[in-house]
Formats: sequence, C-alpha cells, structure tokens
Amino acid sequence: MSDIEIKRRRSIPVDVGGVTVGGGAPVVVQSMTNTDTADVEATVKQVAALARAGSELVRITVDRAEAAAAVPEIRQRLTKQGIDVPLIGDFHYIGHTLLSEHPGCAEALAKYRINPGNVGFGEKRDTRFARIIEIALQHDKPVRIGVNWGSLDQDLLTRLMDENATSKTPMDARAVVHEAMVRSALVSAELAKTLGLADDKIILSAKVSAVQDLIQVYRVLASRSNLAMHLGLTEAGMGSKGIVASSAAMAVLLQEGIGDTVRISLTPEPGGDRTNEVRVAQELLQTMGLRSFAPVVAACPGCGRTTSSLFQELARDIQDHIRDSMPEWRKSYPGVETLTVAVMGCIVNGPGESKHADIGISLPGTGETPAAPVFIDGAKAVTLRGPDIADDFKKMVADYIEKRFGQG
Ligand code: SF4
Repeated sequence: MSDIEIKRRRSIPVDVGGVTVGGGAPVVVQSMTNTDTADVEATVKQVAALARAGSELVRITVDRAEAAAAVPEIRQRLTKQGIDVPLIGDFHYIGHTLLSEHPGCAEALAKYRINPGNVGFGEKRDTRFARIIEIALQHDKPVRIGVNWGSLDQDLLTRLMDENATSKTPMDARAVVHEAMVRSALVSAELAKTLGLADDKIILSAKVSAVQDLIQVYRVLASRSNLAMHLGLTEAGMGSKGIVASSAAMAVLLQEGIGDTVRISLTPEPGGDRTNEVRVAQELLQTMGLRSFAPVVAACPGCGRTTSSLFQELARDIQDHIRDSMPEWRKSYPGVETLTVAVMGCIVNGPGESKHADIGISLPGTGETPAAPVFIDGAKAVTLRGPDIADDFKKMVADYIEKRFGQG
C-alpha cells in the first residue's frame, strides 16, 4: 500500500446488503453478470465465480417476469453455497411492474438500480419512479440512480438545449449534455428524497463512454452532491482498450477522491472469462494504493540484457502461484495481500528494485555471473546459483510468507 494518502471525498455511507458504500469506506469492487437471469443455473454459477474472484457486489439484469421470478431462487442457492454477496437488480422500463408483481425479488435484492432515462415518458415517468421508490421504502432497500448518456432523459436534454440557445453565455453542446446528465441524477435524487428515501439509501452514477467526458461529468456531480457514487466508464470495450480507457478515466477521479464503488465494464472475448473485470478493478485500486487484494509482483519488462526465458517464466510462475494460493492464504496468512515481490532481469535495476520489495530476486543478465542475489526486507539475504534458482526462490517466498504472516 502506498504511503501517499488519497484524500477521499466525504460521501454519505450506504449499506448495501451489509457492504458499506461511501462514507470513507474502502472503495467497493462490483461486477455484473451477462447471463439470462431467468437461467438460474447459469446465473448462480457466474455470480459465484464473480464473488470468488473478489466482487463484493454483483448486479444482475431483471428485464422480465421470468427473470424477476428467478431472483429469490438465485439468492437461496448462492446462500446455500455459502456465497452471501449482495445482489443488485438492474431495471429498465418495467422495473415498477416487476418489483410490484414479484415481492420475493424485491426482498431478495440488496439494491435496485434504476435509470431515470428509461423509467418512462411524460407523466408516466414520475408515477413509475415513485412506485419503485415506494417499494424500496417498503423493503428498506437502497437505490442507485444510474444515468447513462446512451439513454439520457430526452425531455430534460431538449429543455436544457433550448435554455442554452437563448442564454447570453451559451455553453457548447457537449457541456449541455454533461449538465443534463448531472441534472438528471440530481433531480431524480431530489424526487426520491421527497418521496421519503433517505440520503443513506441513494447512490448516484452518471456513466459515459468517453474518458474526458466521464471525468468532467463526475467532477461536476461530486461538487454538487455528497451522495455516495458508483464509478464506471460505460461500454469501455474489449481487451486492452477497455482496460486502458476505464483505468485512465477512473484513476483521475479516484485520485481526486471521487468514487465509492467501481465497476469495470469490459466486453469479454466470446467465451471469455467474465471475472476478468473483477481482477482489473482490484488491480486498479491496488496499483493506486487504495486497497490491497493480493501480493504485488513487480517485474521488469526484460530487454536485450535478459539472458533467457527464465526471467519471464519465474515472474509468471510467481504470479500464478500467488493467484492460485490466495484463497487459502487469505485464511492462513492475514495481511499477505500487502506482500510485494520483485522479479528482475539483470543487475541494472535488479538489486535496487528488489530492495524496495519485501522479497526480490535479481536474475543474471547477459554476460553476468550466473548468480541471483535475493533481497529480503531491503537487505541481501542469499545468492542463488545453479539450475534450481526458480524453485529455490519460490521456496524462499513461501518461507517468507509463513514467517511474516503465519500465526505461529
Ligand atoms: S532490469 Fe535489466 S533486464 Fe530488466 S529491463 Fe532493466 S536492464 Fe533490462
């Protein structure tokens, strides 16, 4: 964990099924399933995988009666498996009907997510919105008011565009869209409050898919409200593009103390692993020094001085070993998630970087003596030689963990 502290924005804490979001609590990692919620088997399996990967809240789509009817069973099956991760229901268009007709669903969910742009139009919008808030009050559940620029309240946007057109100091069109997003979230939150929902039952979000817009919208939102905030770049995309875009946007906001819960909206490869979005969120928070989830392995990128694949193999082995061992280590070695390990390729930066880690190894580069000094807690502990350097180092990491984090 970095010792440079990020000053977090003080928001009102919200209890989401036993998980605190906001109020200075650690930033919560959440994710969303992509299964058909009516398919109980598939949804339970994916929620369980996301929870095991470390997702502290999981959102599921509730889009029709069959999905709403499946929610209580999904909750029960997860609880039976010992998985108590809170479930959030994602509602669009007919949330008021689904929650009214399926009280078991309303009760099993820990939070309802509603999008003010997708609740309804004209007069219907307010009555439907009011019905959802009424049900949230009955079941004592928090609500996320989640604005998305793909489904922004068009009436509000048109009104603001018209006002802007006659203003003496008109803003550019993009700024009007930003203002509409912020206003949509704030006006809906005010409406929810007048209907009786307390501040500590409301979380706001205003997601866009462009990095600079997201930063701008959240800065304004944070300056006008002290409600808890869910942070995420919507439609971030696939692979490295999605990871980079999400990280770039969220890192700026998190550094400014904005964001109480995060979701990385990655598009998985066909048949890809949905839990990847959880790992990325954890790595983002950990690399920023906001939370610790698993030991960090610092490895140099390798270069012309790297003699062989030994260095890449060792870095990968250590990383895999840590990932595989973490479920067990978390129980046996409290605090192990703060461990730092360095695997370096040569003498140029190897000893220096290894000294900064709890335990680090500097492998021999091209032309160097085939010896690998190992540093523990900043001091040289031993020099490994011979064909078993990798295995010897892995054993030293295990011994270090036992000694430092074992409970006797
Ligand atoms: S530590 Fe050595 S091998 Fe690794 S990148 Fe730097 S110079 Fe190259």
